[in-house]
Amino acid sequence: ATEAEDYDVVLIGGGVAGYVAAIKAGQEGMKVACIEKRGALGGTCLNVGCIPSKSLLNNSHMYHQILHDTKKRGIEVGDVKLNLAQMMKAKDESVNGLTKGIEFLFKKNKVDYIKGTGAFASEHEVRVNLVDGGEMSVRGKNIIIATGSESTPFPGLEIDEEKVVTSTGALALKEVPKRMVVIGGGIIGLEMASVWSRLGSEVSVIEFLGQIGGPGMDSDIAKQTQKILQRQGLKFKLNTKVTSGEASGDVVKLELEAAKGGKNETIEAEVCLVAIGRRPYTAGLGLENIGIELDERKRLVIDQEYRTKIPHIRVIGDCTFGPMLAHKAEEEAVAAIEYIKKGFGHVNYGAIPSVMYTHPEVAWVGQNEAELKEAGVKYNVGTFPFTANSRAKTNLETDGMVKMLSDKETDRILGIHIIGPNAGEMIAEGTLALEYGASSEDVARTCHAHPTLAEAFKEAAMSTYSHAIHS
Ligand code: FAD
Ligand code: NAD
Repeated sequence: ATEAEDYDVVLIGGGVAGYVAAIKAGQEGMKVACIEKRGALGGTCLNVGCIPSKSLLNNSHMYHQILHDTKKRGIEVGDVKLNLAQMMKAKDESVNGLTKGIEFLFKKNKVDYIKGTGAFASEHEVRVNLVDGGEMSVRGKNIIIATGSESTPFPGLEIDEEKVVTSTGALALKEVPKRMVVIGGGIIGLEMASVWSRLGSEVSVIEFLGQIGGPGMDSDIAKQTQKILQRQGLKFKLNTKVTSGEASGDVVKLELEAAKGGKNETIEAEVCLVAIGRRPYTAGLGLENIGIELDERKRLVIDQEYRTKIPHIRVIGDCTFGPMLAHKAEEEAVAAIEYIKKGFGHVNYGAIPSVMYTHPEVAWVGQNEAELKEAGVKYNVGTFPFTANSRAKTNLETDGMVKMLSDKETDRILGIHIIGPNAGEMIAEGTLALEYGASSEDVARTCHAHPTLAEAFKEAAMSTYSHAIHS
């Protein structure tokens, strides 16, 4: 065997966490390698996550809007047809363009891209099983684990990615199923349910808890979201647990039970999406060779500087603590390299936005009302509905509201929760406010252009410490 090549930093995993850290290390003048096994860079996010889902969400929304929301705007359309194969092709083109873009950035920043599966041989050596056959070894002064996450399986339901699917199969169905049942009313469940419902499927979402949206979504917003999605045709069964399921012939059958016990029923569909969360992925990493352990939720345990108990081995992204979000992974990637290079880095875990890309979008940052109550914090609430916003009115898109929570005593903003058109863009302003420690009055006294949706944000701030003008 040839001598292992030495690097300042070796990344295991080329998802958002891994590729961003690799580029940053290259920019800092470090000798860096990134090992990725899927044959393409960008990880879950670019290949089977954020990017393909947003492509389908955008184009299915346009299709749905053309079918149902043009007449009142003075647009008469004729023969509208779905070409699903072309919609999938457009999605694949976006994905391919972006993954190739990262390869280009790797070259530009002198990152060695190693296509293969990495496993620890020792604390400084990673053995790589190459995608094209053969093996090689690399040595890292620093090694960063960024192996991401995988879909949590539902016990007893075997995933075939055609009839019983995870998000990966749901992003690549070859035809619109007559009926779809979704286990889990979190973000993946609601985004994918929206796509297939808009394209013509009858979609039912089964959620164990009493509210949709997954962890973090404010209850008021979750209720409004549910109403709006119901109006679009989605069906919900809350407080319901799936006890078992099986695929037989052309249908998948699920047995349901009221979460608190009692009522049982059966639901059938052509496709069942399992979307009950994701779990860290560390299989085959050879952790046993270096004695690094996982916690009870299979996460790699780290300190504040992302170090495992072996200090030159760090962990970032979905395979460790915190929300499983691409932008969180990206922040950690930059910070981890800064810790290695300069000894300090920065991620504010209190100001990481969440966005659900349904229509309308739902976005939030900071704490929700239930969390503030639980922590015993006294707070003010300000809200502003899009029905009173001039731009939303002219766009004929008035569903939703902005809700702001601020400290009762100091007026410092503690949380922002939006459901409405472009909420995902608007939350950037909220995140900045939170990051800078703004008060609601700071935002309210900042001039916002007219007519924009962002004025709803300003007026929600006005109503938090005083009164909105337009409601
Ligand atoms: P990953 O992206 O999972 O990357 C890890 C990579 O490591 C993978 O490519 C894997 O092949 C590779 N790997 C694993 N083990 C090895 C090994 N031993 N050797 C070599 N390579 C290895 N987040 C958002 O912020 N916004 C969204 O809109 C959004 N939409 C999503 C939609 C869906 C359907 C899904 C499933 C997820 C979505 N997410 C979204 C979450 C987002 O995709 C993840 O938070 C993000 O990808 C995490 O990045 P990561 O680098 O930690 O892990
Ligand atoms: P999630 O945790 O958001 O939601 C899972 C839902 O399933 C929860 O509401 C939970 O109560 C429910 N559930 C769990 N077990 C159940 C059961 N047996 N029966 C019925 N319901 C059950 O997880 P997800 O939607 O799978 O998403 C996984 C991760 O991917 C999340 O961390 C999410 O942040 C990330 N993601 C983000 C985006 C985005 O940012 N737009 C999009 C997709 C995924």
